[in-house]
Amino acid sequence: MSNLLIIEDDDLLRDGLCAQLRQAQHSVCTAPDGAIAQALLESQRFDAVVLDLGLPKISGLDVLRWIRQRLPALPVLILTARDGIDDRVAGLTAGADDYLTKPFNMAELQARLLALLRRARLPAFGGSLEIASSQQSLLRVDANLPQAWLGDERLELTQREWSLLSLLVSHASQVVSREDVLICWQGDPEDGANLASNALEVYIHRLRRKLEGSGLNIRNVRGLGYLLENTPANSSF
Ligand code: CA
Repeated sequence: MSNLLIIEDDDLLRDGLCAQLRQAQHSVCTAPDGAIAQALLESQRFDAVVLDLGLPKISGLDVLRWIRQRLPALPVLILTARDGIDDRVAGLTAGADDYLTKPFNMAELQARLLALLRRARLPAFGGSLEIASSQQSLLRVDANLPQAWLGDERLELTQREWSLLSLLVSHASQVVSREDVLICWQGDPEDGANLASNALEVYIHRLRRKLEGSGLNIRNVRGLGYLLENTPANSSF
């Protein structure tokens, strides 16, 4: 089951999409405009977004740019008008992962969403995850190999530290739960044994030490999980 967010101002279409995707066993939230979508994206973790480009108040393209800045790894499928070639190009340029033109076929939308979700879960997908501040890369995590860079300096990471850091970076400014981490670690060959109850804390502690001095910090959100945050003023996320 995936957590999906549908951002669409057309009530009928939004309700229809929501019902169909719930029937396909997804957990679905909806937003009729960009402002509500942004509030949801700031407070919850989603696995993928379906975004209509023709939105009131904040345009779909602006919502997309906002998502790309804050949640670079979040898959976004855009919906555009049939004749909106310029829209599609602008959407893909702004970082959409895929698009469908209206009217679309529900089965095709589901298939495309599943493909996006699958791709996003593959460790080999994408080159790297990055947190940048005023055009400077603060932290870059390789999507394929267990390595990361803090500025120009390479961090020494174990496989497990790397997958934890990747998860935190891909959900920067969102809380990652203990369950999320354990799911991410499933099948991880490192030390193979069951995870002791305090093991996650140990890994968090190690990562904190490696991030020391960078302005990035992993905050414990009591009862919820962990949040990677950029502590200096005017951070970009
Ligand atoms: Ca619309």
